[in-house]
Amino acid sequence: VSPPLDVLIAGAGPVGLTLAGAMAREGVACRVVDQARERPTGTRCPVLWPATLTDLTLAGLGVAELVAGSVPVVRKVFHLRGDSFGHGLAEPASPWPTPVCVGQDRLERALRDSVRGLGVPIGSGVRVAHVEQRPDAVAVTLDESGRRNVVLARYVVLALGDTPDAATLAGVARPEHRYAGYRTLQADGRIERGRLPEDEEHIFLAGQSHVGFVPLPGDRHRVFATLPAGRVGAARTVVTRISGVEVEWLEPLWTVQPRSAIADTFRAGRCFLVGESAKSTPQPVHGLNSGIQDAANLAWKLAAVINGRAPATLLDSYDRERRPTAQALLAKTARIFSYGTSSDVDGALRDRVRQRQHDVRNQPEVGYASGPLTLASDAASGVGGRMPDVAVNVDGQATTVYGVLVAGRWTLLVCDGGGLPTEPGPWLDVRPVRPSAGGLPALCLVRPDGYVAAAVERSEASRLEAFLTEIFSPAPAEGVAACR
Ligand SMILES: Cc1cc2nc3c(=O)[nH]c(=O)nc-3n(C[C@H](O)[C@H](O)[C@H](O)COP(=O)(O)OP(=O)(O)OC[C@H]3O[C@@H](n4cnc5c(N)ncnc54)[C@H](O)[C@@H]3O)c2cc1C
Repeated sequence: VSPPLDVLIAGAGPVGLTLAGAMAREGVACRVVDQARERPTGTRCPVLWPATLTDLTLAGLGVAELVAGSVPVVRKVFHLRGDSFGHGLAEPASPWPTPVCVGQDRLERALRDSVRGLGVPIGSGVRVAHVEQRPDAVAVTLDESGRRNVVLARYVVLALGDTPDAATLAGVARPEHRYAGYRTLQADGRIERGRLPEDEEHIFLAGQSHVGFVPLPGDRHRVFATLPAGRVGAARTVVTRISGVEVEWLEPLWTVQPRSAIADTFRAGRCFLVGESAKSTPQPVHGLNSGIQDAANLAWKLAAVINGRAPATLLDSYDRERRPTAQALLAKTARIFSYGTSSDVDGALRDRVRQRQHDVRNQPEVGYASGPLTLASDAASGVGGRMPDVAVNVDGQATTVYGVLVAGRWTLLVCDGGGLPTEPGPWLDVRPVRPSAGGLPALCLVRPDGYVAAAVERSEASRLEAFLTEIFSPAPAEGVAACR
């Protein structure tokens, strides 16, 4: 039996690595293990959404270099029987307003370097074979080339990707739904230069099928299509027939049978499910982005509990916030799947794409307004949503809100020029700011993951203070000794 650990993370994909990096920055002792000896190569997930870039930034994993080598995608254009309907993709209130295309291989390299730089060991060829819950710890059996070894950790996080194994290890159900009769295929390819604008996504809708192109760095495009299973053999011809775009296809060609799954709970005792282990959608286009959101939601909570800054009950909020978000994502992707394979292209789709209701790739808005970490208030809208990155003035210097937030910490923005309603604490920054254009309520409490927990006027300062006391109620440090 090895010495105890704070958190064992199973799965060295982007989700497990994001979690490891964010927690290691907060002093949490973690270790990552992966059954594979090598990660898959290739671009796989081509798009990082503004929300994902923001999550990575707030987790302390800088993305500036990654963004510098990416292709921005400013517009999505739908084509339907000769008509085109274009929609802007920018999210102006985000610190990273434009989605960017960068291969998953590059993101993973950046995350791995960052996590290793923080001293977190990443073990390959190590499979999590069994998880046993104990009152103060979790005993995880690791299998390394047939050699078994038990590791004690306070918590284990299963980031095993789109497999039922994580649910089995955690002892929870993860029912699956298959979309019979269809296949989704994707590959990188080269198209004639200038055939499609370099900074736009293009989607061609046809009866029961759609075909799309997303620009990638290196003069390539990601080509994707959802087709009736019987047409997959002739997919290359079908793609060109539907889109009119000639493609030089590059390996590999990824083909999947669309299916969705969601675990009954994302937490079983000391064991957490994140990313595609927790839920997967019928289009493989949300796994990475929504998985990083899971990691961003869980990392600061685990760090707070382990560091004795919050009671262990804080961890209940992970399932309460992320499962409804996952359910909304599954409902939306199921709807989109049915539109994207509709045979009634004109009747079912024309108005939707004109009005931008056929958002094949965008995620639904994420928000935690009805979650347990939000102070309801009539005074302001936007509570529970992502804090907008508005211009502010701090000590006479012009900056923006995200220039003030510090990775891993809560921030109370005092926006009305009044006195500080509470003292800063070990986990709370209190920052007087002057919004350049008004529009912010007097007091805005922003969580470590950038969501607004409270937005109140001065008259409600005492309610806010009571809320803060509840959140920061002292917790006995869950020291390593606790599980020895
Ligand atoms: C062609 C393609 C296009 C995609 N496009 C998009 C997109 O546009 N947007 C998007 O958001 N996502 C997209 N995805 C999905 C994205 O690639 C995945 O969601 C992402 O890799 C999931 O990350 P993860 O860290 O959750 O799991 P993974 O990357 O799957 O990593 C899980 C790791 O866990 C390890 N593991 C499994 N079982 C065990 C065990 N018992 N013990 C130890 N280790 C174990 C595996 O070896 C693996 O390395 C795409 C995928 C593909 C293939």
